[in-house]
Parts: sequence; structure tokens; C-alpha cells
Amino acid sequence: MDQVDSTEARREGGAANGLPETPTSGGAPLTHVIGAGLAGLSAAVRLAERGHPVAVYEAGIHAGGRCRSYYDATLDQVIDNGNHLLLSGNDCAFRYLSLIGGAAKMHVPAKAEFPFADLVTGERWTLRINDGRLPLWLFESARRVPGTKPLDYLGAARLMWAGAEKTVTDIIPPKGILYERLWLPLMIAALNTDPSEASARLAGTIMRETLAKGGAACRPLVAEGLSAAFIDPALDYLRARGQGVTFGRRLKRLAFADGRVAGLDFGDGEIPLAEGETVILAVPQWIAPALVPGLSAPTEVRSILNAHFRIAPPPGFPPLLGVVRGTIEWIFAFENRVSITISGADRLVDRPREDLAADLWREVVTITGLPAELPPWQIVKEKRATFAATPVQDAMRPDAITQWRNLFLAGDWTQTGLPATIEGAIRSGERAALLTMRV
Ligand SMILES: Cc1cc2nc3c(=O)[nH]c(=O)nc-3n(C[C@H](O)[C@H](O)[C@H](O)COP(=O)(O)OP(=O)(O)OC[C@H]3O[C@@H](n4cnc5c(N)ncnc54)[C@H](O)[C@@H]3O)c2cc1C
Repeated sequence: MDQVDSTEARREGGAANGLPETPTSGGAPLTHVIGAGLAGLSAAVRLAERGHPVAVYEAGIHAGGRCRSYYDATLDQVIDNGNHLLLSGNDCAFRYLSLIGGAAKMHVPAKAEFPFADLVTGERWTLRINDGRLPLWLFESARRVPGTKPLDYLGAARLMWAGAEKTVTDIIPPKGILYERLWLPLMIAALNTDPSEASARLAGTIMRETLAKGGAACRPLVAEGLSAAFIDPALDYLRARGQGVTFGRRLKRLAFADGRVAGLDFGDGEIPLAEGETVILAVPQWIAPALVPGLSAPTEVRSILNAHFRIAPPPGFPPLLGVVRGTIEWIFAFENRVSITISGADRLVDRPREDLAADLWREVVTITGLPAELPPWQIVKEKRATFAATPVQDAMRPDAITQWRNLFLAGDWTQTGLPATIEGAIRSGERAALLTMRV
């Protein structure tokens, strides 16, 4: 059954064949955006900002795709499908949040500080990165990882010039205290792929856009709720401009003719596209190749596992804590919830949920000192969280421009130069929007 948002419902005459009545703005032709994840929403809001008419079609009944919140009955709370971390250097994400009015829903710390704990020894330390490009923090032992020297860090700079075929551990040898306490947790979080197989080039882009720019670009940001920050304001933004998202509309087929997309088929008859109309395909990489003949796309995925526990964090507990030498990698502290994230979690996703909850809670108790009794919990396994950020998979990512003159691709899996991230998804949507405006 189609579920249509209130904008569609309000539109006089409704939507024949699922096509919104063409909103015209200065005569610009309509852009059809397929998929209302971050990439699709980012494209749509950019187009709407410039007064271009846009129609968004989403297969599901919610927008946000892999980045959204939902009500969880077990916890009786609204939770995110997975804890997401942004860094203040994620410029496109910030522009998007500012444009739609979601920035106020982000927790922005004053400094780039990353507290860590060693699960085995109980040792604690905080990485404190100074603002500004000169890495002065390296020369103060209290700001570095304990047991490391400034020169130890320099090898990582080579990631920024790594060849496309290199892995992270080709550049940073996987041994020593700095690897265990910093590079391993940072790289697995950023790439969702073990550093031994993850692309050094993708890691290098992250280094260039964050660490190399200093603390101002490295502040860790967590949303109050993913939908509250990234999704709901975007839907409001579109609505306020008379643009709609139609839910429950799964694109089944693109009709091609004369070097262009000539029609959209949602399973209830082909909708012909007028000359000048454009299409942005913003669906995941496991869907797009079935819609676009001959499309190259990553084929391997990596999972992310989140466990949410309904319990107040201990007083003074940091919003985000990195954990080394445990199964858990990051602890996120919310008002009445402690959540943990494990990236590259394929080894865990087939384990029984009850066992996982009990084992992961034991680690949380060791770190936080919370009572040993297991509180109400939820495990969220995202098996297809991201494409595997390996050199081979990276080489399979397509550009936004296709051989069809009115079809453009968006999504975290297209060739953004970044791993599968919020920043990459939003950037891809912006680029696709700009390309359609040039047609
Ligand atoms: C658990 C988890 C944790 C993560 N943590 C982080 C993090 O900390 N930091 C970070 O930067 N990134 C993180 N990410 C990655 C980030 O969430 C993704 O990169 C981003 O959300 C991808 O957005 P997208 O629009 O490219 O794809 P998607 O979110 O997959 O959106 C695609 C949309 O297309 C729709 N669709 C599919 N087929 C059709 C069709 N035929 N017709 C119409 N619609 C269709 C889908 O329903 C979906 O809504 C995480 C991801 C997960 C899953």
C-alpha cells in the first residue's frame, strides 16, 4: 500500500500515477529523485533551494534509509538504527544541516577531545587535538596516547599520498601501542573495514579532511537523534517549498530510449518523462545495478552492530568513549541510554542476540561501573551497513554521470573519494543536484 506524506495528500487532485503535479519554478523541468536516504534528500533540498521542482520517491514508509531513528517498543524510546558520528570537518554535512535547520540537533563539543579506555588494564586517556593545522598536541604527552612519541604519528601522514591499491596496514604497520590504541579504532570506525584490507586512499581522504586540518575539523559530533537532525527537517524544508516525498513507491524499472531515461515504472504503468526532465537514482548499491544496465557497483558489504541498554549513564560519563582491547569499540552516552557500536562486525552478526547482549553488557559494566544486572536492551544488526572499503571495491564505484544524458547517480557507494559515510552520501547528492541543473 502506498503511504503518502501530507504534502502529497494536500495537493489538489492528488498524484496521478504517483507523479506529483509538476511544480513549476521559472519553467525549470522536474527532477525525479529515487530514494529518500541522505543522498536523495541532499539532492532534493539542493534543488529545492534553487527553486527547481523535484519529486522524491521512497520505497519504504520512512525517509532516512540507513540513517534514521525509530520508536523501539522494548526500550520504550526513540533510538537510531545505529549510532552515527560526524566530525566537524564534514563540510557538506554541515552545509546540509545548516540549510535544512538540523544543526541545532547536533551536540557540538567545544574541543576535539577523544577519551579512551583500555578494557584489559582499565587505563584511561584522552586524545586532545589542538585547533589549527600545526599539530602542537603531538608535543604534549598529556594530549597524546600514553606510551607514544611525536614521531610515531608521522607515518600516518603517508596515508594521504597512498596509491589506490594499498591497504591501510601497507602504510601503517599493524603493531605497537599507537596502532592498537589509535589507528585501529579510528580506521575501523571510519572505514567499517579492517585496516588490513581497507583502502589507504580512502583513509587518506579522511585524514586530509579532518586530522590534517587540526582540531577545528575533528570535533566529534553526535546527533540528538538522526531523524531529528538529518531527516525530519529535510522533509519540512521540502514541504515548505511545495515539494513532496511519496512513500511506498519502489522504482521497478527505468525505461531507456534515445540516450536518455524516457520513463519510470513503479509497477503500475510507465510514467513518461518529458524532454528536459532528469532522474537522480539515489538507491543503495545492491539495488542500482538491477535498474541500470551495465552499471558497475561495489558488491561486498560490511556490517555494523549496535547494542542499546536502557539505563542512565554514570554521572560525568563522556558522551563518547573509545574502548580498546574489547569487543565493544565505542560507548555513546544518552540521557537514559547507554549504546555501544561495533564496526566491521560480520564475525558477530550471526551470534544469538541474548548472548551478545549479555557479553557486551559485561564489557560496559567493566568500563562504566554500572550494576551488573542486564537492563532492558536491544541489539540492532545492520548487515549491509556499508560497502567494504577495500581497494578492489573502491575501484568498482561509478561516477555520478552515466551514459544516459538525464540520469545521474547518488549514494555513499558512488565515487565520492570517501568511504560510505554521511558526508559521502550528502556530497554525492549535492553533486547529482548540480549536474541535473546543468542539463
Ligand atoms: C549502523 C550504521 C552506522 C553508521 N555509522 C556511521 C557513522 O558513524 N558516520 C557516518 O558518517 N556514517 C555512518 N554510517 C553510514 C551512513 O549511514 C550511510 O553512508 C548513509 O546513510 C547512506 O545514505 P544513502 O542515501 O547513500 O543510502 P541509503 O540510506 O541506503 O538510502 C537509499 C534509500 O533508497 C530507498 N530505495 C531503495 N530501493 C528503492 C527503489 N527501488 N525505489 C525507491 N526507493 C528505493 C531505500 O529505502 C533508502 O531509503 C552508518 C551506517 C549504518 C547502517
